Amino acid sequence: MLLSQTETSKSAAELAFVQVALPVPLDRLFEYSCSAKNLHAFQNGCRVVVPFGKKSLVGVVVSSADKSDYDLAKIKPLTSLIDETPVFSTSMIKLANWLADFYIYPVGEVYASMLPVLLRKVSSTKALAKKVINEDTKADTNEELKTISAELPLLAQLCAHQVSEEDIKKLHKSKRQFALFQALKEQPLALSQAKADYSPTIVKGLIDKCHAYIEETPPELGLWPTQAVLAEKKRANPEQAIAIASINQATEFTAFLLEGVTGSGKTEVYLQVIEEVLLQGKQVLILVPEIGLTPQTLRRFEQRFGNIVAVWHSALTDLERLTVWQQAKYNQIGIVIGTRSAVFLPLAKPGMIIVDEEHDESFKQQDTLRYHARDVAAYRAKQANISLVLGSATPSLESLHNALSHKFRHLSLKKRAGSASLPTQHLLDLTGVPLEAGLAPSMLVRIEQQLSQGNQVLVYVNRRGYAPALICKQCGHVESCKDCDNPYTVHLSSHNLQCHRCGQYQDYVYKCRTCHSSNITTQGIGTEQIQDMLAKRFANYSCVRIDSDSTRGKRKLNELLSAIGQNKHQLLVGTQILSKGHHFPNVTLAIILNVDAFLFSSDFRAPEKLAQLVTQFSGRAGRANKPGEVWLQSYQVGHPLLQDLVNNGYEQFSRLLLQERNRANLPPLAWQIALRVEHSDTALIMLFMQYANQLLAQFSQLSYVGPFPAGVEKKQTRYRFITVVQSSSRQYLNRAMTQAKQALGEHKLAARMRWSIDVMPSDF
Ligand code: ADP
Ligand code: ZN
Ligand code: ZN
Repeated sequence: MLLSQTETSKSAAELAFVQVALPVPLDRLFEYSCSAKNLHAFQNGCRVVVPFGKKSLVGVVVSSADKSDYDLAKIKPLTSLIDETPVFSTSMIKLANWLADFYIYPVGEVYASMLPVLLRKVSSTKALAKKVINEDTKADTNEELKTISAELPLLAQLCAHQVSEEDIKKLHKSKRQFALFQALKEQPLALSQAKADYSPTIVKGLIDKCHAYIEETPPELGLWPTQAVLAEKKRANPEQAIAIASINQATEFTAFLLEGVTGSGKTEVYLQVIEEVLLQGKQVLILVPEIGLTPQTLRRFEQRFGNIVAVWHSALTDLERLTVWQQAKYNQIGIVIGTRSAVFLPLAKPGMIIVDEEHDESFKQQDTLRYHARDVAAYRAKQANISLVLGSATPSLESLHNALSHKFRHLSLKKRAGSASLPTQHLLDLTGVPLEAGLAPSMLVRIEQQLSQGNQVLVYVNRRGYAPALICKQCGHVESCKDCDNPYTVHLSSHNLQCHRCGQYQDYVYKCRTCHSSNITTQGIGTEQIQDMLAKRFANYSCVRIDSDSTRGKRKLNELLSAIGQNKHQLLVGTQILSKGHHFPNVTLAIILNVDAFLFSSDFRAPEKLAQLVTQFSGRAGRANKPGEVWLQSYQVGHPLLQDLVNNGYEQFSRLLLQERNRANLPPLAWQIALRVEHSDTALIMLFMQYANQLLAQFSQLSYVGPFPAGVEKKQTRYRFITVVQSSSRQYLNRAMTQAKQALGEHKLAARMRWSIDVMPSDF
């Protein structure tokens, strides 16, 4: 809708007022006016374009009224209304409000982060807005309500025209166009689908000949075929059967923790409970870790349920995202499998939410709105009164605590499905052992044995590149990135030095910058060095590296994984990417380097992370009929944590860790919120954070530690500090931090600092 200049001079009685959430870093809504007779069109959850300073912004209507408490002269009129029907349903509005409160984050920015990019910007709606505005001035009907449907691209359908017999005969000459025309005569096709199935040129050709036309129709509800789900399934083993029955029995909100060892058939459990939900005509949202969404995963779901499955991940284009968003919102698909942000997808008929590998760190967003997808999923399931299924072989201590304290229903699968057995775990004492690219001689012997038997071997190291540092043996100088005070990593493949914090790189150096000695050497081990050594030593076999360098690009990781599946590579060297949910049936030996780094970390979550890594990594080995073996190389083989993990496994280890957290009064038995501050001047950071501490000191039921330097203490010339605030009451902590944040925002340094509130931080 467009409002003319005269609107502003309207008397108050003719005006109405709309509260709008805008994507600006302020914890408040903004009021705009519209003509009273148009107020009905401004439904809550619709997007509007409004003037904001010199800019135009897209905002979301959250309430409206016929009165205002503000000075009418200062209230600006809205520019236009974008949606005829709300983009945010009532429950999504509630979710947005909850997110803003829970994560102490500006509500307008929450709304924006929940929307696909194409629905967020003025630029993508501008062309349409202009059209409406021009038409408006021409017709001089300022009062008339007009909307811009920004969802147009998808709702466009291609339909067949009535065409004479003669023209149809002529069309026979171009086979593809004819085929498309025949299809359209049967039924119209979504424009995007027609373009994909035939080609944009074929579509254009048919339109140019006036044989087809585009019709813009509102989407319809409930299009996916429920009967598609009746596929054949595996016969559940007794443990699976119990889990499936328990989940199927839930008729209201219930959270389940499905704790099942790697390869125990968790996915099969998901498939069978999903079927029940689909048969009721309801949708299922499945969240998976960032790099856990492989074509194999998708194929398993598609094989069972056909083409009612959509995927959502970071490699999609903006238009692809909008498509999935709409398909979910208008019930055109039954299942969405997606990474973290899929948790914000609107669902027409929510039936169940599953979080696979629920312990995975990628579910926590580490900037802007720092949400945890698992917690958001729990809120949504509760809100929709449906089941939440959290699955993992290595549950987070948070979920485990909820399960053991009966907040969640606890289901377990203790045996591997089928004939595979779990691999054995061993510690290898490195003291006094000469290493070759980080590997002990006895490991090289084992590698040789496995390779000669036609098996595959996996080697894990937590660093990519050739070596994590380049040092001068003469004077001790370490080549470092000045902006981050961080040693450069030596890269062989690109032959340069790279800063892994800021991404800067520089040429390889052959002489020390300080003393000009040429006696310089690399220190530590990265994936490239191991690959280099193994490739030379086992020249008859193919050695492949899997880290974020070698898997850059949309399809690279999947290509590598399928090549491994086809046994094109026998030696696999990689970082944690290798530990995530993949299925390597032919791997019989896995070796983990550098476990000691986890034992001496200041992060209280380090032992949990180590245990998850080791267990998940072990889960890659021996998945088929061949038994697997896992070796942990360490200088600390007597360390009680390692002994416990190797001898007793994750199940027992995690429960002991939980008791330890309890004794130390740490999460999940206490609640934490972190204040993070960044600036190039540490003195200013201290001033600001000392003021924060003064504010926090006023609250009696919380404690705080800090400021202390963050794990990444400097990045891109800015120092980073953290204060961790803790309380036994989540509500109390939330209220205190909400107040403290507001007061802190009024400090004179607040506008100069980069600072944020991190609720339940997972990383320091
Ligand atoms: P998880 O998700 O726990 O890692 P999967 O569901 O991938 O385990 O199952 C591991 C393997 O066992 C898969 O190849 C799967 O097809 C097979 N499997 C799962 N459940 C059964 C069953 N009930 N009977 C036979 N094979 C099964
Ligand atoms: Zn030197
Ligand atoms: Zn840097």
